Order: sequence, then C-alpha cells, then structure tokens
Amino acid sequence: MLALVLQAERPLTAYQLLERLQTARRAAPPTIYRALDFLLARRLVHRIERLGAFVACAEPDHEHTLVQFLICRQCRAVTELDDHHVAEAVATAAEGARFRMEHAVIEIDGLCAACAGGVFAD
Ligand SMILES: [Zn+2]
Ligand SMILES: [Zn+2]
Repeated sequence: MLALVLQAERPLTAYQLLERLQTARRAAPPTIYRALDFLLARRLVHRIERLGAFVACAEPDHEHTLVQFLICRQCRAVTELDDHHVAEAVATAAEGARFRMEHAVIEIDGLCAACAGGVFAD
C-alpha cells in the first residue's frame, strides 16, 4: 500500500490506488480508506485536497506544522516543501488575527521546471 504511493510517479487518488491494488490482490474500498487513514496519521502520505490524491511524504520526520505543496497544473507533479520561514510568517499573521494556528497546508499552483520550458534555465 505505502509502496504503491511511494512508487507512483504522480499523486494517486484513492480510486487509482484501489485499481492498482486490485491488479495485485483483492482489496475492498473500506480497506483502502483504513490504510490511507493509517498512513496519513503517521504522515507517511499527504492528501493533496486540490487533486483529491495522495503523495508519499518527502520527509516524514519533519514537524509538518505548515507543509507546502508545489503542484504543476500541467503534469500534476507535486513537490513537498517544508520552509519554516513560510510557517513562521503564517503563524505570526494568524497570531495577529488572534488565532492560534495548529496545522495548515498550502497548495501552490503553477508550472514545474519541465513544463515551464526553459524559464528556469541557468
Ligand atoms: Zn511531509
Ligand atoms: Zn509539470
């Protein structure tokens, strides 16, 4: 199950995971959701709300107060960032609004280097 997410070249939806599992062995939808809940709770995978899909965590031992995802709108490649400057800035802004932030996910849309075609060439 985790291996499937890890091997995937792109984020997978629960349905796509189910399809892949069923080619290997029988798995019922409730099993998939239980397995995903387990992996999510241990931060071994993340859910990308915008895509309704799951990706393997890039660094499971990170704190993950505010994780950032760069999502390519063309090829759907997802890159996980864990920039603590972003987390601190958001926490400070939330505090300013008298709100104690516990957890947040920022999903950033755009184009990856490959799809942007030379924009990042140096
Ligand atoms: Zn992560
Ligand atoms: Zn791309």
